[in-house]
Amino acid sequence: MAGKDSVAVLKGVGKQAAETLKEMNIETIHDLIMTFPYRHEDFQLKDLVDTPHNERVTVEGRVESEPSVLFLGKNKSRTTVQVMVGRHLIKAVFFNQHYVKTKLHIGEIVTLTGKWDRGRQIITVSNHSLGPRTDGADFEPVYSLKGSMHQKTFRKLMRQALDLAKDDLEECIPSKFLAEYKLAPLTEALEWVHFPPDGESLKQARRRFVYEELLMFQLKMQALRKKNREEEGGSFIDYDVDKVRNFVQSLPYELTEAQKRVVNEISKDMKEPFRMNRLLQGDVGSGKTVVAAISLYATVTAGLQGALMAPTEILAEQHANTLAEWFEPFPVTIALLTGSVKGKKRQLILDQLAAGQIDILIGTHALIQPDVQFKKLGLVITDEQHRFGVDQRRVLKDKGYNPDVLFMTATPIPRTLAISAFGEMDVSVIDEMPVGRKEIQTFWMKKDMFGKIVGRMEKELAAGRQAYVICPLIEESDKLDFQNAIELYSQLSSYFHGKYTVGLMHGRLHSDEKEETMRSFTEGEIAVLVSTTVVEVGVNVPNASFMLIYDAERFGLSQLHQLRGRVGRGSEQSYCVLLADPKTEVGKERMTSMTETNDGFVLAEKDLKLRGPGDFFGRKQSGLPEFKMADLIHDYRALETARKDAESLVNSDEFWTSSETECLRNMLEESGALSMARLD
Ligand code: ADP
Ligand code: MG
Repeated sequence: MAGKDSVAVLKGVGKQAAETLKEMNIETIHDLIMTFPYRHEDFQLKDLVDTPHNERVTVEGRVESEPSVLFLGKNKSRTTVQVMVGRHLIKAVFFNQHYVKTKLHIGEIVTLTGKWDRGRQIITVSNHSLGPRTDGADFEPVYSLKGSMHQKTFRKLMRQALDLAKDDLEECIPSKFLAEYKLAPLTEALEWVHFPPDGESLKQARRRFVYEELLMFQLKMQALRKKNREEEGGSFIDYDVDKVRNFVQSLPYELTEAQKRVVNEISKDMKEPFRMNRLLQGDVGSGKTVVAAISLYATVTAGLQGALMAPTEILAEQHANTLAEWFEPFPVTIALLTGSVKGKKRQLILDQLAAGQIDILIGTHALIQPDVQFKKLGLVITDEQHRFGVDQRRVLKDKGYNPDVLFMTATPIPRTLAISAFGEMDVSVIDEMPVGRKEIQTFWMKKDMFGKIVGRMEKELAAGRQAYVICPLIEESDKLDFQNAIELYSQLSSYFHGKYTVGLMHGRLHSDEKEETMRSFTEGEIAVLVSTTVVEVGVNVPNASFMLIYDAERFGLSQLHQLRGRVGRGSEQSYCVLLADPKTEVGKERMTSMTETNDGFVLAEKDLKLRGPGDFFGRKQSGLPEFKMADLIHDYRALETARKDAESLVNSDEFWTSSETECLRNMLEESGALSMARLD
């Protein structure tokens, strides 16, 4: 097996080279050949007539004059020679390469690569070779290297490695897919991805590796999904349909069709003996909380406990209040557990929880602290899932629980990302807003309009509505000249003095203060809430109809959409004003997009295009793998195909037994997807 051999068997790999290669994570021949170039130098012959000014070009021609050298001082020279390229007589200029003079003779054929000066008909040569073009020299791979490793050396090693390995490469893609998509077989594709004979083979090699990567990736996801569902001790939540129906009828409004549909999807999962692992997506304001409440209630009617986790205390608190109201006529005991519930109060909750006297526990991640023990946990719901850094599922599992799991997110995740980051989950979507909602009207204004906007805000306040003023930072910082919440707060306080109460909310407030401020705002005692982005997720005050977002260019589109979603939650017309002087085109485009649509999915796709997938979920927890070849946005069609193929593979008996798929099974085994609870 040449592939498993150490790179030390290659000619030219001594101790130092081996070390440099190791730094690049290359230890075996296989590692080496799987290190793909990040681009190719293009030496394809081009026609000068089609070559734009200042573009790099490779041409072949005949030397027409003796070279003349001009010495320009120490080690500096300029050598010029006339060359006939097709029917063009051009000048080739070589800097600091006076030795070419002895090599270039009239009548000789040369290949030249360099920058084309169209006006002066000059090529400034960076690469040249004597004699006519040889086959296979059109593309030269360029690798990302470390230390003192040179491209030339590395290419030579690659050449040797490919020749050594080519006879025992193992094809992992099942032949039916190779045939169906006309994919290049592994041996060819590997050769071509490094040393393509022409542009088309490079393209084909890439196409194959993109598919292969995505297939492997989706296989892991699908294998995991299958495993999760079939896991021993999967929960079976035998809820009482009539009781649940009664609860739904007691709610203050009728569910939208979309809400009914997802409630059904969730109920079906709960009744089945496998574990639910579901993502519930719904744009801001689409009404996910009530779906959570129904699912939790169903769990309680089955004699089990439920938990609802929120990313912030404000939101946990709000959920607790909402649920307390809805469950009021029903025999359900709920409790709130956040970081600020301490001492005796906390101990009491823990005791009652362990004794099964609490049916539903609502809280922040304080909920999954080690000392929190449930009696019989059936369902865990996480609101705004992507904001959690921890893998709650594993934490729960480590604690010996194996509940059904529902993740709710208002960040509309473009499908390509949803099936990537959450590929092992089932997905439900609320794609409809409750009736009677009016579209939020969004305006983008320059910062010098502030005074006028405050006037407009006052009009809303006079009509009995409330307003949010959002700004990015809490305190003044020398580096960043953002307007800060505290300053805005004092400005607005004096402006509205004696007329309207202004409140201040930011992350550094004590949780009691936050709670109190939120309560006053919810109850209408505070008319204007100046806040940082702590209100970004989930907060629901339907009477608020006006939002001013200061320094809006500092936020991403999805975040702006989240923020804006705090208004437009009642039946009144709502307004959102983005105050921003964006300096970049992307910044301007963001503002314009916000004024053009209220559709979170449209904005999410836009955001993804403007920022790229890495940034989409925020830096920390993208959950997205790194690919060598594939690009989740560009290759979304291949991703869809790979997902479908992976699904059909893992669900066929053949996949688990046939020798053709052994390679894929080994890969799954190695990746740990067959033994782990969740991939990282
Ligand atoms: P989100 O999906 O953003 O979490 P919420 O669950 O907070 O949204 O719901 C937003 C608002 O819409 C709340 O005031 C909620 O009571 C209300 N709501 C939810 N479902 C309906 C419905 N079917 N009809 C009318 N109002 C609804
Ligand atoms: Mg919500």
